[in-house]
Amino acid sequence: MYVRRPGIVIRPPSEAGSFLLQVTYGCSHNHCAFCGTYMFTRFARRPLDEILAEIEATARYNQGVRRAFLCDGDAMCLDTAELIPILDRLNESFPRLERVGIYANAANVLSKTPADLESLSARKLTIGYLGLESGNDEILKRMRKGSNADEMVTAVRRAQAAGIDMSVIVLLGLGAYEMSREHARDSALVASRMNPRYLSALTLMLIPKTALHARYRKGEFEVMDARSILQELRWFLQDMDVPGPCMFRTNHASNYLPVAGDLPRDKERMLAIIDRGLADSSMWRPESRRAL
Ligand code: SF4
Repeated sequence: MYVRRPGIVIRPPSEAGSFLLQVTYGCSHNHCAFCGTYMFTRFARRPLDEILAEIEATARYNQGVRRAFLCDGDAMCLDTAELIPILDRLNESFPRLERVGIYANAANVLSKTPADLESLSARKLTIGYLGLESGNDEILKRMRKGSNADEMVTAVRRAQAAGIDMSVIVLLGLGAYEMSREHARDSALVASRMNPRYLSALTLMLIPKTALHARYRKGEFEVMDARSILQELRWFLQDMDVPGPCMFRTNHASNYLPVAGDLPRDKERMLAIIDRGLADSSMWRPESRRAL
């Protein structure tokens, strides 16, 4: 079967073993200043018959799929009525299916009612990945995120109340030196209000041809050094006051130092690792081995 795959397909690290199913192409927002992922992909909905045919073709040789991930960048932008036949066919085709994941932004979650979200989670759409990036509204505006912090808190709470665990991502370095402390403090405040099931931090890497890269070239944005990023991570973690349980990770390849643990239980242990990292640069991932 011919399967059209325009652009590149990305997925969260935790979806490495999942059946990756494109249900949209690109990102319906596609405007964030730091993001170049879908710069050359025009947003489109993939035709339903093509999606269903790919599910059937996959089921013919692999009945054992336990996890599926709906791509691309914000597949949650599809209406509930568009997602349901896809989820139903996944459930019918893969008897061992345990969960379906999806990238989501606040606008796509908030366009759905609690009942919509419950009908999706009942069909095993039980994990969503949302880029908070920053809890600071000025930074979100500069980065053209398209949602403010309060909207993202409401979206995460609404999804989780409906049975969809949320995995929230914060982007270190997004406030540059100028707003580093505010970025860390407000991101911790907002992430704590969200109380997501999963929380991770990535570190900004400038992508050529993005709006943020253009600002950098004009001297309007500074990229922070490794030590300042670690200090920002420390501020962020020390300011986290989440009821939990919240699994926190910085294991993404863009980061300088991996830490992992459950909040609030492991907070002091993770802070101690960051403090050792601040004192010992041999613990840092070399620049040449950082990647997105
Ligand atoms: S960061 Fe996410 S929402 Fe923003 S343009 Fe990239 S894929 Fe779209």
